[in-house]
Amino acid sequence: MKISIIGSGYVGTVSAACFAELGHEVICIDIDEEKVRQINAGIPPIYEEGLEELMQKHAEHHLIATSDYDYAVANSDVSFICVGTPSGDDGSIDLSIVRAASASLGRVIAKKDGYHIVVVKSTVVPETTEKVVLSTIEEYSGKRAGKDFGIAMNPEFLREGKAIYDFMHPDKIVIGAIDKRTSVIVSELYRSLDCEITHTNPKTAEMIKYVNNSFLATKISFSNEIGNICKKLGINTYEVMQAVGTDFRISKSFLNSGAGFGGSCFPKDVKALIGKAKDIGYDPILLKSVIEVNEHQPLEMIKLLKAKLGDLTGKKIAVLGLAFKNDTDDIRESRSIPVIAELLRLGADVTAYDPMASDEMKKVFNNITYHISAAGALKDADACLLMTEWDEFRNLDSEFGLMKDSVVIDGRHMIVLEDIEQDIDYVGLCW
Ligand code: NAD
Repeated sequence: MKISIIGSGYVGTVSAACFAELGHEVICIDIDEEKVRQINAGIPPIYEEGLEELMQKHAEHHLIATSDYDYAVANSDVSFICVGTPSGDDGSIDLSIVRAASASLGRVIAKKDGYHIVVVKSTVVPETTEKVVLSTIEEYSGKRAGKDFGIAMNPEFLREGKAIYDFMHPDKIVIGAIDKRTSVIVSELYRSLDCEITHTNPKTAEMIKYVNNSFLATKISFSNEIGNICKKLGINTYEVMQAVGTDFRISKSFLNSGAGFGGSCFPKDVKALIGKAKDIGYDPILLKSVIEVNEHQPLEMIKLLKAKLGDLTGKKIAVLGLAFKNDTDDIRESRSIPVIAELLRLGADVTAYDPMASDEMKKVFNNITYHISAAGALKDADACLLMTEWDEFRNLDSEFGLMKDSVVIDGRHMIVLEDIEQDIDYVGLCW
């Protein structure tokens, strides 16, 4: 089929490359001309394992990019909206980009003969697809949903760092369409994937995405709270969660206590659901606590650091890991951001290393020293904070010997003391 994909960020680019790999003709639309140029040259605008190979394979043939909505919509049957849905000032969802993309689509659908389908893949709070996207397209096109064009909501569940694998091996595909005709056409796009499809209405599809992310975020904050209690009691929370996770009703995943969750989705999505709940007159007590625990958790790292070093003024602190998780250069809502901000506020001298994300972090902090190796950041440091679970940090050993005072505060449960020869003053965040 012929698909256009609006927005070439993580979700848009990965979806475009994967749909091309599944045999569809794909046109990416972005307002960022640089991204358009990169995609047409087969260069991924974001880092994601396996993405470059797919883009090189399909660029110029089954995968092209443009900033021209007219061309893209005229030459496709289905348009996916994959633009960003950031948090507004009060944490609730900012739909201005979705509105702008819907208006652009409406203007060109007005000129198109034949049935065009618009699928919302951006994460949007319940009722957005019908009350914002559908109504904006109707307003700008002068056409009727269900008669002249179709509308569906098809949330994306991919994990950054494993995005290609997740797209190609989904555990669920959810299609919330306004009618059967649209639902059937959108399902066709995924026909070659081995996955059952949940067919529902748009607002249920929207809610499924929020519940999925909010539940995972809740598991993490729950584990962190239990971890903080365990720490005070001298109990290893990992031993506790290992046993608790054997209960099939709970499962072992997302029970790892540590410095908290970041990224472009969990914090934003939980806050958006809180905002939506408040809008409809419900106070979401549990969801608010999930965010509160997550905001507190990085500061627990600083508390442990101060307990070891006292006043941090002039102390050299190495922060290892800047990306919000391993295998990505994405630093959005990374827990290392509040940690670095607090270290600077307390007068510390911060050195940092990340295998991929230093360039991104330079845009946030230009007053810390970035190194190209963990050894560089650790040299002469008074203490080190492990913030991201990069595999290479698991192999650190002699590098700790370069530190002035080898206090290591592990925010991700990565160091196994028995496996390292270097004598370090190790502190686990919750264990
Ligand atoms: P992103 O910010 O990385 O990319 C958005 C892209 O849209 C940018 O390239 C931007 O230039 C482009 N854009 C902005 N306005 C536009 C317009 N009017 N027309 C065309 N293009 C426009 O966003 P992302 O991380 O890919 O997320 C997109 C959506 O998917 C969000 O709703 C997000 O919550 C959701 N989501 C993200 C992930 C993830 O892991 N990143 C996973 C699942 C769902």
